[in-house]
Amino acid sequence: MDEFQYQIDLLKALNQKLNGECSMYRTLVDTSGNAFLYYSFAEDTCLMMGDWDRFFEIQVRNRDDLNQLFSQVREEDVEPLRRAVYIEESKDSFSSQEFCRKNKKQWVECEVNLIRDEMGGPKEKLLRFRDITKFKKQNDDLAYMAYFDTLTGLYNRNRFIQELVGWIQKASAEETTVSVAFININDFRKINDGIGVLVGDELLSQFGRFLKELCVDSTMMCAHLNADTYCMAVYDPYGKRTMESVYRQIHERLEQPFSLTEHQVFITVSVGVAEYPEAAGEPLALMERAEIVMFKVKHEGKSGIRYFDAPIIEDFVQSAQMEHRLKHAVLEKEFLLYYQPQFDTETKHLRGVEALVRWRDEEGRIISPGEFIPIAEKSSLIVDIGEWVMERAISTLARWKKRFGISLIMSINISAIHFAMEEFSHRLIQLVEEYEVAPEEIELEITESVLVEDCEGIRKKLEILRQYGIQTAIDDFGTGYSAFSYLRSLPVQTIKIDKSFIDSMLKDETGNIIVESIVDMVNRLGYETIAEGVEQQEQLDYLREIGCEYIQGYLMGKPMPQEQLEELLEEQLEKQVWE
Ligand code: C2E
Ligand code: CA
Ligand code: CA
Repeated sequence: MDEFQYQIDLLKALNQKLNGECSMYRTLVDTSGNAFLYYSFAEDTCLMMGDWDRFFEIQVRNRDDLNQLFSQVREEDVEPLRRAVYIEESKDSFSSQEFCRKNKKQWVECEVNLIRDEMGGPKEKLLRFRDITKFKKQNDDLAYMAYFDTLTGLYNRNRFIQELVGWIQKASAEETTVSVAFININDFRKINDGIGVLVGDELLSQFGRFLKELCVDSTMMCAHLNADTYCMAVYDPYGKRTMESVYRQIHERLEQPFSLTEHQVFITVSVGVAEYPEAAGEPLALMERAEIVMFKVKHEGKSGIRYFDAPIIEDFVQSAQMEHRLKHAVLEKEFLLYYQPQFDTETKHLRGVEALVRWRDEEGRIISPGEFIPIAEKSSLIVDIGEWVMERAISTLARWKKRFGISLIMSINISAIHFAMEEFSHRLIQLVEEYEVAPEEIELEITESVLVEDCEGIRKKLEILRQYGIQTAIDDFGTGYSAFSYLRSLPVQTIKIDKSFIDSMLKDETGNIIVESIVDMVNRLGYETIAEGVEQQEQLDYLREIGCEYIQGYLMGKPMPQEQLEELLEEQLEKQVWE
C-alpha cells in the first residue's frame, strides 16, 4: 500500500513539475513579443502561439490557411517569403526571410525550422515571426545619415561625391561637361553668433531648401557640405549660362530677407565655379578648385560669382607656398624692423618713428610686408609676427632711450586679428613694464576695420590702454569707413591721413578741399594729425600751412634699418643741442 501511495505521490509530483514546466514555456512564448506557428505535416494542423494578433489578422489552422498568410504581405516580398515558409521543398532545414506587411509599416522577420523524420521526410516545422520595424528604421536612419544632411535634407558630401563620380564618368563617355559650384554664406559665423545657433540652423535649412528648389531636374543636384557651405552640380550645362542663371536666382532671392523665429536676416553669398574637364578631371579635384575660386571671391571681400581660370589657381598655389615659407620664417625669426621717422611740420623735430616689419628670407631677399602680411593675416601667423614686432620695437626704444637719452614715439602697426586677442592689452603692458619704457612713448596704429568689427569690445580695450597711457592712432584714415560721427567718441589720440589724399592734394581743387577739411575737422576734435606719404616739398609746405602737425614720408626719410636710424638720432640730438 505504501509502495502504491508512493507511486501515486511520485506521479503527482512529476505531473506538477510537467505542468509547471509547460506553463513556464507558455509564459516564455507569450511574453517573447514574437508569434509562433507550429505545423504538423502528418495531421495538416497549425497551432498559433505567442503574440499572434500583433502580426496577423487571420487565423491559420492548416496548410490552406497558411497560404492566406501571403495575402498580408507586400507584393515584392511574397515569393521570397513563400520559398522560406515552404522549406520542405528544399534540402534545408532552416530558412529566414524579412518581409513588410501590406499597407502597414510593419517589418517582420520570419524564421523557419524544419524537423524531419527518420526517413528524411518533413515531420513538423516551427515558424517564428519577429517584429523588426524598429531595427529597420534605425538602419534606414543610419543609411539616411550616411548620405543625407539631416539639417537641410540635401545630399551630404559623401553622397554628392558618389553621384559626381558617376556624372563625370558619364560626361567623359558622352564628351560633355559638368559644372560644380561652391556656394558659401558670407559672415555666417557672425550671423550665427548674433541670432543664436538654433535660429542659425533655421537659416541654413531654409537656404538649403531654396537651393534644392533650384534643382529643377535630374541634371542638377545640390549638397550641404558643412555649416555655411553648399555645393551644386549641373550635368551638361548650357555654357556658363546655367550657373549664371542659378546665381541670378539666388541673387534675386537674397534681395529679400529670410524670415526666421523672431529675426529677419539678409545674407550674401560667394560662389566659385569649376567645370569638368577644363578645371579638373577628377571629382575631388574639381570640387577643390571650385572651393578655391569661392575663397578667392571671399578674400577679395566681395560677394558674387567667379569662374575657374588658371591664374586663380596659380595665385592660390603661390600664397599656399608663401604661407608655408612664412611658418618657417616665424620659427626661425627671419624678420627685421625698419623705422621711418615722423617730423613736426613747424619745428622739424623728430616726433618718433613708425616700425615697419621686413622679412629677410633664407636667401637674404628682403620681402615687403605688403606681400606677406595679408597672407599672415589669413592664419594665426600674424599674431606670432605681431608679438615679435611689439617686443623688438619696444626693446629697441628702450635701447635708444638709454643710449641717446631722448624721448620719442614708437608707432607699431597692429593687425585687427592681433588686437582682438583677449590677452593683447595685458601682453603689451607687460612688455612696456619689462623694458621700462614710458607708456606714452608707445603708439599703436590700428586701421578703421578694427573699430567696426566689434565696437564695444574694442572701445573697452582702447580705454584700458589709454588709461594706462598708451597712445593709439588710426592708420590709413579716409580709406575705410571714416564716418566723422564715430570719430568724436573714440579713445584715440592721432589720425594718420592716408597717402592717397596727400597724392591727390595738389593735383586738383577737390583734393585740396578734402585734405583741408579732414585736417580742420581732426584738429577741432582734438586729435593730432599725421600726413603719410609726403614726397614733395610743396606737399610739406601746404600741410604746414593748413595746420597738419606731423608728417611722414620719403621726403624726410624712407623706412630704414636700425643702424641708419641711429645715425639720424645722433644728428637729431646735435640739432637739439644747437637749437
Ligand atoms: P602703412 O602702415 O600704411 O605703412 C606705410 C607704408 O607706406 C610703408 O610701406 C612705407 O614704407 C610706405 N611709405 C611711407 N612713406 C612713403 C612715401 O613717401 N611714398 C611712398 N610711396 N610710400 C611711403 P611698407 O613698409 O611696405 O608697409 C606696408 C604696409 O604693411 C603698412 O602700411 C602696414 O599696413 C603693413 N605693415 C608694415 N609693418 C607692419 C607690422 O609690423 N605689423 C603689421 N600688422 N602690419 C605692418
Ligand atoms: Ca602704419
Ligand atoms: Ca598707413
